[in-house]
Amino acid sequence: MSTSVRQVDYLVVGSGIAGLFFALKAAEHGRVAIVTKKRSADSNTNYAQGGIAAVTSREDTFELHVRDTLTAGAGLCREDVVRAIVQDGPARIAELIEFGTRFSEREIPAEPGRHELDLGREGGHSKRRILHAKDVTGREIERALLAAVQQRPNIEVFENHLAIDLITTSKLGWPGPTRCVGAYVLAVETGQVEVFAAGQVVLATGGCGKVYLYTTNPDIATGDGVAMAYRAGASVANMEFIQFHPTCLYHPRAKSFLISEAVRGEGALLRGLDGVEFMPRYDERRELAPRDIVARAIDSEMKRTGSDHVVLDLTNRPAPFIMQRFPNIYRTCLDFGIDITKEPIPVVPAAHYQCGGVVTNLDGETGLPGLSAIGEVACTGLHGANRLASNSLLEAVVGAHRTALRCRAEASFPVDRTIPPWQTGNAVNPDEMVVVSHMWDEIRRLMWDYVGIVRTDKRLQRALNRLINLQAEIQEYYWGYTVNGDLLELRNIATTAELIVRCAMQRKESRGLHYNLDHPEPDPVLAQQDTVLRREG
Ligand SMILES: Cc1cc2nc3c(=O)[nH]c(=O)nc-3n(C[C@H](O)[C@H](O)[C@H](O)COP(=O)(O)OP(=O)(O)OC[C@H]3O[C@@H](n4cnc5c(N)ncnc54)[C@H](O)[C@@H]3O)c2cc1C
Repeated sequence: MSTSVRQVDYLVVGSGIAGLFFALKAAEHGRVAIVTKKRSADSNTNYAQGGIAAVTSREDTFELHVRDTLTAGAGLCREDVVRAIVQDGPARIAELIEFGTRFSEREIPAEPGRHELDLGREGGHSKRRILHAKDVTGREIERALLAAVQQRPNIEVFENHLAIDLITTSKLGWPGPTRCVGAYVLAVETGQVEVFAAGQVVLATGGCGKVYLYTTNPDIATGDGVAMAYRAGASVANMEFIQFHPTCLYHPRAKSFLISEAVRGEGALLRGLDGVEFMPRYDERRELAPRDIVARAIDSEMKRTGSDHVVLDLTNRPAPFIMQRFPNIYRTCLDFGIDITKEPIPVVPAAHYQCGGVVTNLDGETGLPGLSAIGEVACTGLHGANRLASNSLLEAVVGAHRTALRCRAEASFPVDRTIPPWQTGNAVNPDEMVVVSHMWDEIRRLMWDYVGIVRTDKRLQRALNRLINLQAEIQEYYWGYTVNGDLLELRNIATTAELIVRCAMQRKESRGLHYNLDHPEPDPVLAQQDTVLRREG
């Protein structure tokens, strides 16, 4: 039974870069509640290592950044969106710095004592344009934005509050065109479901890496935003384009530790377990080829040799440089007994980034009035069939900024009727949580085995059949038992997994991150065609 109804102007779901950046801007014009399902800093943002891409040097141009993004996106980016986001980059970087983010700087070689931003290079970028804070960029951005949020009396952060479902006027039976007016939110520590009513609801829930067995994402990444938006009737697109990061640390005790793209950018080489370099056989850009090519090359080498990993060798760079440039990677690997200044790093690919998501325009508008989506959960058209490294943090700040401007300009929608409390009916406490954890494992493994880096029509069909059965079992649990975090996330990973499979089945070609052995070539007819799914009824 619900215990409280909270009424705010803006309800933000998620406290990563997108949610926090939006909240800081919206708070100038209204009251903001941020609900976040764990602690505030638990987000993909906090794990971003490499940095944020933006044109800030004289050697670089917007045109080059646009071109690199379009090339990576393999014929599916929306060029107007790419251009707008790239051009807005420098202004948003300046704001991140104003909010307190400290990016790494270097001494200008010809001008001792003077400093400039230290720009990194990553795969697919033709210029050095990655602003970073050593190799803990996301942590630094999250720290700065959270500190800024704490100083705004207009923003209240609700930790351990997990949004269950969006509330729409049509579900409530209210008259008029359908609109999102809030969300039901589980206060995890008390088990109570609270009502948050809001004129504007903003999804900033991040990605869905946990749908896969191996992922670089932290535990929060369970596709909740995509699943909630889909259930509420919003369109979801391009979910087949899941980026697998080529280099996740392979170690029995390492859960999901990423070896950043920047390591390859600084000269690290990929080798088989026999010590032989293999990237020259796959692509002339070698280690700096786009991620999908590198991930498929590693997958193919592992399948060819039967090995369960390959290695990434940075020992060609001086030890002091490695320790200074990659302190976090150096220390973490050392904790696992690997000295990266002296020996190669064992690596495997892992699910990393969701290029598709809730369909929005540049200003975060979904098709459902009152509901916006920003950051990784949104599908704006920037990434197309493959994300260019470090473009996601950029997309998040530009999207948050533009969405805040739009929401502020829109007439506020007063939620003046009472939203009914959450109904628990005859639900009882789940007696056997082992069923839930079993289904979690089953979905993650079947997605890894059947819907991973290389797909076939048969494997996709098999995955869909299994997911449909699992969904029925999960629904039974959902309606029969009182809700808890694990059950709600299970319901969301199942929905998100099914959306990925359905999108993948619709795309009868190979393009960008979606590679299907039964349709190994891109079909020119499908260029610029998104795979859009919307719930019937
Ligand atoms: C290891 C790693 C390294 C990366 N490196 C880079 C990089 O160098 N450069 C780059 O551009 N990108 C990088 N990325 C991607 C980038 O970090 C993310 O795309 C970006 O941080 C997403 O930001 P976001 O605000 O959209 O979501 P997130 O930062 O993931 O935040 C999502 C928030 O939503 C909350 N949430 C989710 N569901 C619910 C719910 N139901 N109820 C309440 N709260 C909820 C979460 O708890 C979290 O607070 C990396 C990602 C990973 C995992």
